[in-house]
Amino acid sequence: AAKNLGRNRFALYQPAMTIDTRNFLDLEQALRKALKKEEFILHYQPQYSVDDGHLTGLEALLRWQHPVRGLISAAEIIPIAESSKLIVELGGWVFEQACRQLRLWLDAGVDPVRLAVNVSVRQLQDLHFVNVIERTLTHFQVPAQHLEIEVTESCLQDNEICLKNLRKIEQMGLAIAIDDFGTGFSCLSSLKKLPIHYLKIDRSFVIDLPKDENDAAIATAIIALGHQMNLKIIAEGIETQAQADFLRVAGCDHFQGYLFGRPMPATEALQLMRKRQPDDPNSHSGRG
Ligand code: C2E
Ligand code: MG
Ligand code: MG
Ligand code: MG
Repeated sequence: AAKNLGRNRFALYQPAMTIDTRNFLDLEQALRKALKKEEFILHYQPQYSVDDGHLTGLEALLRWQHPVRGLISAAEIIPIAESSKLIVELGGWVFEQACRQLRLWLDAGVDPVRLAVNVSVRQLQDLHFVNVIERTLTHFQVPAQHLEIEVTESCLQDNEICLKNLRKIEQMGLAIAIDDFGTGFSCLSSLKKLPIHYLKIDRSFVIDLPKDENDAAIATAIIALGHQMNLKIIAEGIETQAQADFLRVAGCDHFQGYLFGRPMPATEALQLMRKRQPDDPNSHSGRG
């Protein structure tokens, strides 16, 4: 059941649940406890180069190992955490866990691919966020080049603190991706003010490809816009070969989706990285 709910990220907004605010507060309380009890883990979903099919990145996705309900996906956790300051604490834990994992992979002797970490607007608005990143990288001795942060378009709105933090993060050497591109408040003029490296085409534009003419036009336009601005394009939520074929022809740079790999535990992600050939030019964590 948890799995089915996780697929429907709007499950939380069904009337029966929004009316019951007590339930919502209970859930927030439960998340706080889960954080204390260390019940959260990260799963990692692979991203591949469209050109040669090699592993180029991993996206860290939050999971809750619920003692009764089993594995609960981020779609159920994040909206609750974002409705309070809890997201700042939880987001801090996610970044720390990502760095801890990178350190383990480095110690295991692999050259890790770029690890993308989702970051909420609320975290970016937090004055301490950049310090947390800096301290965590230093603590785990992880080079910033191994990391990427994914932010949604709401960060593109003129919010001075967000912009300032993003610039600092970029200067530190982390890559920045705009997640779910096209679904938020598109403020294209802010795109050019930001130090971005990747645009991620949202799953909602991918799901009806190649048949839906509007989605085909949107996907093609996002790729053209991104390339004109020297950005790399990652398509997310690819489930069929037909979707992949369309996006390849349209010029997409990276693929991510169930067709290529589901989010998986760290040990399986390590196997994927080990499988890469050592002389493979794409086996570096550099941007591309
Ligand atoms: P997102 O960043 O856009 O991540 C993609 C979501 O789509 C993930 O759901 C992923 O499991 C799912 N997905 C990937 N490929 C496919 C596919 O081919 N088909 C389908 N149907 N789904 C696919 P998940 O893990 O439940 O995460 C949902 C959202 O929660 C994420 O969307 C992201 O916005 C947020 N999130 C996840 N982890 C974190 C985190 O650590 N911090 C923050 N702030 N947000 C997070
Ligand atoms: Mg993401
Ligand atoms: Mg996304
Ligand atoms: Mg999305």
